Amino acid sequence: MKDTQLAQIAVTEDYTGAIANPIYLSTAFQHQGLGQSTGFDYTRTKNPTRNDFEVAFSKLEGGAASFATASGMASIQLVCSLFKPQDEILVSYDLYGGTFRLFQYYEEQYGIHFKYVHFDQYTEVVDAITPHTKALFIEPISNPLMIEVELAPYYELAHQYGLLTIIDNTFLTPYLSTPLEDGADIVIHSATKYIGGHNDVLAGVVTVKDPDLVQKFELLHNMIGATLSPFDSYLLQRGLKTLHLRIDRAQDNARRLAERCRTLDSIKEVLYSGRTGMLSLRLEKDVSVEKLLKFTRVCRFAESLGGTETLITFPYTQTHVDMPDDEKESRGIDQQLVRLSIGIEAYEDIENDLLQALNKSREGVIQ
Ligand SMILES: *Cc1c(COP(=O)(O)O)cnc(C)c1O
Repeated sequence: MKDTQLAQIAVTEDYTGAIANPIYLSTAFQHQGLGQSTGFDYTRTKNPTRNDFEVAFSKLEGGAASFATASGMASIQLVCSLFKPQDEILVSYDLYGGTFRLFQYYEEQYGIHFKYVHFDQYTEVVDAITPHTKALFIEPISNPLMIEVELAPYYELAHQYGLLTIIDNTFLTPYLSTPLEDGADIVIHSATKYIGGHNDVLAGVVTVKDPDLVQKFELLHNMIGATLSPFDSYLLQRGLKTLHLRIDRAQDNARRLAERCRTLDSIKEVLYSGRTGMLSLRLEKDVSVEKLLKFTRVCRFAESLGGTETLITFPYTQTHVDMPDDEKESRGIDQQLVRLSIGIEAYEDIENDLLQALNKSREGVIQ
């Protein structure tokens, strides 16, 4: 676990002594003379506020450079830009829906192949490698089943075959896991989730340590142009200041709730990796999901995660709507499964809310 405060100290020179980082809205920066630059020329290329966040984030990740983008998907698209037609990428079977959709598009449009494998089954992954394989793309905690994959064997495998290891670390954040320090090449975050942390900024970030990749991403980030705005960069930096506190609290709340839910006869199964604030509940047949989503007040029915508020989603018709029903059922994503992103509210408020809603949602209960 890292000291998220230390990485915060602004790197841009500031003569006012401001404790909170300044927001530089300027898109253009004046040159002192021909061939001279302050280090800032044009905001798409480099902006002081975005740079402050990127430098702080790199420090937390143990990387050499970070690239903040306008959304998590823009970060994933940035990474896709590294590949050529015929390249093959092995991808987590349980993948974020938006990433799956983007990969499908790249497959159809550009002939980059994405092969879905179970990273909890090592030999299946090894067998899937061909001379065209260029990378592994892994979500370390599967969604919504919350199964954590052990990454160390894949760093070794990737090294052996000369593959890039790309980790979507959105669920864990650098506070709980620093894949670059362990052997990964590229780390992606949807910073919309825990990094921003307040459900009020859409953002992504790519972090790398290899100088060659730093150079490539500097080029691509500026060329494609889906860079993060100064104001949103400021919000991410502000989010970083409380990341450790928010994760500690959300994780603590989630652990207590998981334990409590295991004792309830309205809940058939609790799916929790033991880390993060993400947990899924498989409800007994006599509990109506529709009613539950209506009767919760503290836990709100909305489609995101990693924020201060506790949110509930229904994967069957939300995050996994594009997946055929039989495929969903076979993966255990059935119509009694709800996913919770536990927030930082007082624990009792979350528990009481869930219990009252569960009670009202059982069959035979008249409203
Ligand atoms: C939300 C999410 C994304 C996409 O990020 P956006 O900020 O919504 O574009 C990618 N991966 C994971 C694991 C996510 O949860």
